[in-house]
Amino acid sequence: MQVHVVDHPLVAHKLTMLRDSRTASPTFRQLADELVTLLAYEATRHVRVRDVSVQTPVAAAEGVHLSEPAPIVVPILRAGLGMLEGMTRLVPTAEVGFLGLVRDERTLHATTYAERLPDDLSGRQCFVLDPMLATGGTLSSAIHYLADRGAADITAICLLAAPEGLALLERETTALAVPLTVVTASVDQRLNEVGYIVPGLGDAGDRLYGSAGSS
Ligand code: URA
Repeated sequence: MQVHVVDHPLVAHKLTMLRDSRTASPTFRQLADELVTLLAYEATRHVRVRDVSVQTPVAAAEGVHLSEPAPIVVPILRAGLGMLEGMTRLVPTAEVGFLGLVRDERTLHATTYAERLPDDLSGRQCFVLDPMLATGGTLSSAIHYLADRGAADITAICLLAAPEGLALLERETTALAVPLTVVTASVDQRLNEVGYIVPGLGDAGDRLYGSAGSS
């Protein structure tokens, strides 16, 4: 598993504003959207392209187009939805799938409550959107889900990650044959006793959408 922490002053600036508890939902949504676009720029560094020639008004030029099949973007419900536009703005031809997972805190087993994905992901580059890589359980289940359907490679884009979550992902995905990359704006200090990232930014779902329902 590769972990890529994006080191850029604009990323740090936007993340600091997201962390600030005084930042209200409308600004939070806007900033999260902008931050995802910056992370997506790094996350798509190895997106597959094919060579093409085009004619400029002056001469022929060699270039590239994104390869088919298009990458597939999978926001994890609910909070991952707040990252979708920021990602598709950069890759508008991407297909979008949806995955909703709920974790039984007793058995730690995640079950799928919503799913809209092609049955066969063979050869597809998948980008999973999940703002907070906290314990890592949900993301690990999502990655297994995509790998079981044949995904060619998987990149998780997370606003923040906890060391505990990265360690769990590493442990639970080493046996997978699928290359996995995590792209994040920061690896924070730790998880607290109730599973929040410290210092983190609080509950990402609540800060994006208010506190109706859960993230
Ligand atoms: N989910 C959140 O929204 N925030 C955290 O800190 C951890 C998990």
